[in-house]
Amino acid sequence: MKTLTLLRQGWHELLDLVLPLECGGCGRAGAGWCSSCAVDLRAVTFPGPRHTPPSPAPPGMPLVIASGRYAGPLRAAIVAAKDGGRADLRPMLATLLAPAIEVAAGAAPHAVLVPMPSSRAAVRRRGEATVVELLRHTSPLLRHGHRVATALVPARQLADQAGLDSAARAANLLGAYAVSSRHRAWLAGREVVLVDDVVTTGATLTEGARALRAAGAQVIAAAVVAATERRHR
Ligand SMILES: [Zn+2]
Repeated sequence: MKTLTLLRQGWHELLDLVLPLECGGCGRAGAGWCSSCAVDLRAVTFPGPRHTPPSPAPPGMPLVIASGRYAGPLRAAIVAAKDGGRADLRPMLATLLAPAIEVAAGAAPHAVLVPMPSSRAAVRRRGEATVVELLRHTSPLLRHGHRVATALVPARQLADQAGLDSAARAANLLGAYAVSSRHRAWLAGREVVLVDDVVTTGATLTEGARALRAAGAQVIAAAVVAATERRHR
């Protein structure tokens, strides 16, 4: 009995070594996602996924469905999953992305999910493509077996978007993405839902949609975990 207790204690210590010791929402020590952030997450999550267009929306911007506001612990978790090496937060983010995809796909159960590509610089820095990894956790939660196609690729070297204002983003992004030659013929005529973690100005999603439409795909909507709320000016 005593041995078992000691073994369990040892096991927990071992788990502490491999599991994060800090909350991905508030940084508090102890758990990967604390109970207080779990409560606060509800405050920034919409009652249901909804259309959250940026304001102003770029011309050609697809309908964009988000599950929450890019604020509070949700923002912290998205940033930590993307740049903080916190892959353990992806399953939680996937539970928010899945319903957004369901709503975005709407009456198109066979819609193909196309993740927005990370810039090459970001992939080098982070070691993996954020949205692709997020979709890996999201796909099993979806009612319909949507096919995931990494059809969009950076068409040229992009400056990292972080820190650019909306005009600079639009300029940086013009012609930024292309449909890979591998997917081009296959994608023509298919219904597509673009997937990203966050929508801010809508510039990347719009540019991604433009490239997909140019290849003959029907972009029916975009789905994201969270949307930045921008005030009308
Ligand atoms: Zn927390």
